[in-house]
Amino acid sequence: MDAEHMGADLENILFTEEQIQQRLAELAQEVWADYEGEHDKLLLVGVLKGAVLVMADFMRALPGSAPVDFLAVSSYGSGTKSSGVVRILKDLDTDISGRHVLIVEDIIDSGLTLNWIRTNLESRGPASVEICTLLRKPEAAKVHVETKYVGFDIPPAFVVGYGLDYDEQYRNLRVIGTLAEHVYS
Ligand code: 5GP
Repeated sequence: MDAEHMGADLENILFTEEQIQQRLAELAQEVWADYEGEHDKLLLVGVLKGAVLVMADFMRALPGSAPVDFLAVSSYGSGTKSSGVVRILKDLDTDISGRHVLIVEDIIDSGLTLNWIRTNLESRGPASVEICTLLRKPEAAKVHVETKYVGFDIPPAFVVGYGLDYDEQYRNLRVIGTLAEHVYS
């Protein structure tokens, strides 16, 4: 879905397809270099559903092979806010003990969900757990989440597209943008 298919629902485009791809390619190079000598232990972990598009493009931008697994969580909260109370809906298929886990995320907002996921994965005996997120909202942080790889820092507005939804819509939008006021009301 392209920006023009959104009509008046899209307020602003924050990142184009090209900007997203370029940043992911840079991050992929950086990650691969950082895990030099340890590539065989690397495991990419995506959090469903939002991170599916980031994962698909990030993993293809890596200059070598890496296995991938997915986790699905529900974070209890109302509407567009997360509460930090998390339940695993789909666990990993992989035993992560001794592995270098790299969590690949779409967005860190309050940080509550990812903080919980990270603590949960760390309790399973991995060699390391790091985070790579395409977007981060520093002003919305409620907890500090050590995030080694960040695509873009953005203001605390609600964004959609490129995997990110509003009420399950707009995940298939190629760009990332903000929604017009009338969509919420
Ligand atoms: P956090 O726990 O960091 O507040 O956010 C957890 C989840 O809330 C994210 O993984 C994402 O699914 C959702 N979320 C946070 N901010 C946004 C946003 O601006 N747009 C959309 N579509 N989802 C968001």
